[in-house]
Amino acid sequence: MLAKNCITAARFEPAYLRLYESGELKRRVERALEALRSCEVCPRDCGVDRLADKFAVCKTGRYAVVGSYFAHFGEEDCLRGSKGSGTIFFSGCNLRCVFCQNFDISWQLRGTPAPPEKLAAMMLELQAEGCHNINFVTPEHVVPQIIEALPLAIEGGLRLPLVYNTSAYDSMESLELMEGVVDIYMPDFKYWDSEMARKYSKAPDYPEVARRTIKEMHRQVGELVTDEEGLAVRGLMIRHLVMPEQIAGTREVMRWIAQELSPHTYVNVMAQFYPAGKVSRQEYPEINRRLTSPEYEAALDEAGRAGLKRLDPRRPSYYGLP
Ligand code: SF4
Repeated sequence: MLAKNCITAARFEPAYLRLYESGELKRRVERALEALRSCEVCPRDCGVDRLADKFAVCKTGRYAVVGSYFAHFGEEDCLRGSKGSGTIFFSGCNLRCVFCQNFDISWQLRGTPAPPEKLAAMMLELQAEGCHNINFVTPEHVVPQIIEALPLAIEGGLRLPLVYNTSAYDSMESLELMEGVVDIYMPDFKYWDSEMARKYSKAPDYPEVARRTIKEMHRQVGELVTDEEGLAVRGLMIRHLVMPEQIAGTREVMRWIAQELSPHTYVNVMAQFYPAGKVSRQEYPEINRRLTSPEYEAALDEAGRAGLKRLDPRRPSYYGLP
């Protein structure tokens, strides 16, 4: 007998197939592209005409820019499996944290433009390689472009679950567009405190936005469901990057997840922070170091005290913490 939160792989059908077959996905493409005209795709509400290839904070105009795409073996076990998570890293970003570990693609936009045909071809290539899912990394500013490419990928035979791997700085309109499209939401709940979000990401509204969007993601897909091999097929997985000096507000984040969502929410308490991006001895010196083992252990204790029961099994030895 299968455990709770487990289905057989044979019974899995990606959410987007029903939308495609009913014609709703086509209507979503039209709505999504219209959202680019005076861009309010994310909470920055820049108002630029991205259909005319104008851009603002996220530095992305009409088409998505892809930094890289490949079978990723560093993701959570339930995503990477034996053949990897089919990761597509989008360049540009709407949040732009000063400590970003992908600074060259998020801030400096290294990558190549990917019109819909190209984006669809990438998804199919990753599927042909045997990847277990398509994992869109930093997708918040290119939701319309993903939706535009999806029918082409479906017509080419795409059948893998879609992972929406986000900072949680999303608009509710984007999540409305993604309802029934995304199988697995994977938000990173970054800061609890508005002042920290202002200081490190120029987004004082981040905590409020993240609480709203993560609740909505949970409403759409529920708790994480895996197949008989332990691979994720549907549901919510939350990441939380623990930062030095308790900057991320780990205690409050853990309590909120347990109380407002469910103690059975899948949570990955991550320890791999290291100084990157704009962080140096001169700028942001308070975070110019790695996390320590005691700091990480304290974060795990907070998760336990909050009552969370489904933590990602990796531990500090994996990260090689001092
Ligand atoms: S998606 Fe980009 S242009 Fe649109 S509101 Fe967000 S940051 Fe601004």
